[in-house]
This record gives sequence, structure tokens and C-alpha cells, in this order.
Amino acid sequence: MLDRRNFYINGEWVGPSEPNDFDVINPSTEEVCAVISLGSQADTDAAVTAARNAFPAWSVTPQEERIALLEKLLEIYVARNNEMGEAISMEMGAPINMACTAQSGAGSWHIENMIAALKDFQFERPLGDHAPDNTILYEPVGVTALITPWNWPMNQVTLKVVPALGVGCTMVLKPSEVAPLSSALFAEMIDEAGFPAGVFNMVNGDGVGVGTQLSGHPDVDMVSFTGSTRAGVAITKNAADSVKRVALELGGKGANIVFADADEKAVTRGVRHCFANSGQSCNAPTRMLVERPLYDQAVQTAQEVAAKTAVANAADEGRHIGPVVNETQWNKIQGLIATGESEGARLVAGGTGRPEGMDKGFYVKPTVFADVTTTMTIANEEIFGPVLSIMPFDTEEEAVRIANDTPYGLTNYVQTTDPEKARRVARQLRSGMVEMNGKARGAGAPFGGYGQSGNGREGGHWGIEEFCEVKSVSGWED
Ligand code: NAD
Repeated sequence: MLDRRNFYINGEWVGPSEPNDFDVINPSTEEVCAVISLGSQADTDAAVTAARNAFPAWSVTPQEERIALLEKLLEIYVARNNEMGEAISMEMGAPINMACTAQSGAGSWHIENMIAALKDFQFERPLGDHAPDNTILYEPVGVTALITPWNWPMNQVTLKVVPALGVGCTMVLKPSEVAPLSSALFAEMIDEAGFPAGVFNMVNGDGVGVGTQLSGHPDVDMVSFTGSTRAGVAITKNAADSVKRVALELGGKGANIVFADADEKAVTRGVRHCFANSGQSCNAPTRMLVERPLYDQAVQTAQEVAAKTAVANAADEGRHIGPVVNETQWNKIQGLIATGESEGARLVAGGTGRPEGMDKGFYVKPTVFADVTTTMTIANEEIFGPVLSIMPFDTEEEAVRIANDTPYGLTNYVQTTDPEKARRVARQLRSGMVEMNGKARGAGAPFGGYGQSGNGREGGHWGIEEFCEVKSVSGWED
């Protein structure tokens, strides 16, 4: 069992001010795989003070020096990629092959892309020809609190830490207490890269403890949060008294609109995408809207894909899905599947209970519901498990209306071979991202949502601006 009780504060690994052990459970086996400490107010204060003290020097460190340190971090991260994959697989149950590629790889991808974006970013720029003595300066916002979830741990950590470091902010990272091992490893990498003491600090803790202490802390200038809408609301309220900037990346209930003229792999691709990471992605396409002529065929394909989706221990090599993260999530998903049935959706694959022959581990059957209607709970709530809801539509207008009929607005998907229709629909969808015909978003594209999916944009120059104050200066003579 790993001992990860220490925090990383002011360039050193230090014990908690008061012992408060918390077990990290491997969701594949339900066994304790590590122990961490949950921090208290004194630990939070020590980390914030270290970040505050490091800010004056780090904020004026030349950009080339900051980028050189990030390049060193990238080198170390790539060299330790598989170690990172193993930590992620153990703490949150991503299958080992996927954990070492998609999960861990998201981290190196974001570090690399953010370095490119930082090199390109104009931190000083003229206002315009109409006001030649006006200059706009982009400056670091200050001490930041970075609070992250467990589902794509390094994806979220790097999307926050790297731009914050790059623009000259200092920070306290509080990773999810459910999946803290990858962040402990990341803190080791920061240490190895040689960032100055106090620039990056990491304290473990839960939402009511360290999370709340950070969002209300008078010496924190900004909170960047990724997680549930529930916690995003609580953080926003708690941050209001000190008028902190709050950037939120929250939940989703993505629609995948499959028109009858979609390419032949569209349905299979959509089902697999929904089940990937055991359905634990904020941008998962969990509502499949299918145009009536293709509907019966799509339901049958989804049933077949679900039946072929293997579920196994995350430590096993190969292409399967692992467990969901913990007992709480498992119970929540079971409850929502039962509600789907009781509200009259047609269960065509999966259902409640563990998959055949699995009596330990938080495994969920890949589940497909057909004939889902917009008022059903499973059409509205984020399930965060391998559960797909399929519903028919007759017209383009109806599809857009159903897709937009949610308080969320993170990612929607469109499948059609008609480019004009694709563009028309993309423009009408109320979401921060629209992915069409299986094409991935490019490096540096902004990630974020509308409505209750949050107000932040991470990645590329949008992700840099999020951590900057904008200063307008007149009378600037070159
Ligand atoms: P969560 O909100 O329970 O926890 C996220 C983090 O916030 C954890 O570190 C937790 O300790 C902390 N936290 C919880 N309550 C808090 C509070 N009151 N004050 C301060 N901190 C608090 O979410 P989770 O279960 O870890 O993650 C799953 C959720 O994250 C899903 O809703 C998912 O959609 C969302 N998510 C969103 C994105 C995105 O970019 N939009 C990406 C990944 C996950």
C-alpha cells in the first residue's frame, strides 16, 4: 500500500498539521491501495502563504525562463508516462492500456499544446491604430486555487496548472481526494523540473475541508474548478465575499444527433464514445437522437455494441471498460438505471446489477435504453456511467430542440453526410463545443460549456486569458 500522506508546500514534502488519514480505494478490487491525508485549515493556509510569497518573483520571471521550465516538465512527464498511467488506472479504474495512452497522454498533449500557445501569445499588444499610445498588458491574476475531479485526472490538472504557471501565477492544487495519486506523481515531476519553491503547491483534502477553505480564502485571487455543477455553485457562492474570479468546468448531458444520412459507422462510434472511460466523461454523448428512418436499425446496433463491450479489471491489458470510480457512483448509477426502467424506457442491453461473474469491484453493465422521452430522468440527469439513452426524432428542428432542452451545454455531436445541414445544426446548438462526424477538436481549441456546464474555457489562448488580468495603459510611448 502506498503512503502518500505528505503535501507539497513551498518546494518540500511536508506532513499534515494534524493527522487525518483517508483511504484510496482501487475500484477494480475494492481494496485500499494508498493512504493520503485530508488537510486542515493550517495546511491550506501554509500552501496559500507559500504561493503568495512566491508570486512577486514568479510573476516577473521572463517568459522564456517559465517556458524552459515547462519544457523540462514535459520531458519528465513523457519519460514517466507509464508510471502516470499506472497511478490513474489504480486510483480511478481506467483500463491500463487506455490509462497509459488517452488518460496519461492527455496530460502531455496539454503541456505541449500550452507551451505552443504561450509562445504565440501576445502579452503586450497595441489597442489599435486609432489610439497609438494605448497598450494592453496581460498580467497574471495572482494566487490561484485549482480544484479538480477524478474522472480524467491529468487532463484537468494540466489544463489548469500549465497555463497558470506559464503566465506567472502561483497556485495551490487540490486534486480529487478520490483520485489523488496521479497528482502526487505530478507534484514530484514539478519538483524534479526545478520550479522555484512556492510557485506550485499541492494539498489533499475533501470539498467541505480544503476545497471550501480555498474558495473562501482571502489570499486566493482566483479559483479554477472542474467538477460537478453542485460543487461549482457552492464554490461560486463561497468565493463571492472576496470577489474572486471563478472559472467553472461542470457537468454535461451531450446529445448526439444522428441523421438518416449519417455515415455507416456513426451509431457504433457514438455508443463506444458513450461507454468510453465507463461513461465517466463530462462530454460523453449520452443522449443519442436518431432520425426515424434509421431508428430501429440504430437501436439494434447499439444493443450489439453494448453486448460486445467487455468489462474487466483495469489492470488487465486490452480493450475493455473498467469499473466506475467508487461505491457512491455505482449506487447512483444503479438507481438511475432502475428509474429508467420504472419510468418506462425500453431496456435493450445491460441493466442493474454487476456483469455476470463479477462479484467484487464497481463494475456496471454497459446499458442501452431505447424509446427514452425528454421528460424521463435518464434524459436529463448526468448519469456518469456506461448508460446510453436513445430517442427518435422526425425533423431537424425537433432534433435541435431536444438537444438544447437541458440546463447543460458542454458538447453536442452531429452525424450527417450533408455538410450544409451539419453547419446549420452546429450553429443552433447551445453548447461550448460541437463535434461532427467523429472529427476530433484540434490542438488549442477551447474546451468549456454554456449554461450549467460552466463559464470557463480551457486550452489555447482562451486558457491563457483565463489566468490573466487585462490592464489598459494610455500614454505608452515606444
Ligand atoms: P465533484 O464536484 O464532487 O468534485 C470535484 C472536486 O471538487 C474534488 O476535488 C472535490 O473534492 C471538490 N469539491 C467538492 N465539493 C466542493 C466544495 N463544496 N467546495 C470546494 N471543492 C469541492 O465532482 P467529481 O465527482 O470529482 O467529478 C465528476 C463531475 O465533474 C461530473 O459532474 C463531470 O461532468 C464533471 N467534469 C466536468 C468537466 C468539464 O471540463 N466540464 C471535466 C471533467 C469532469
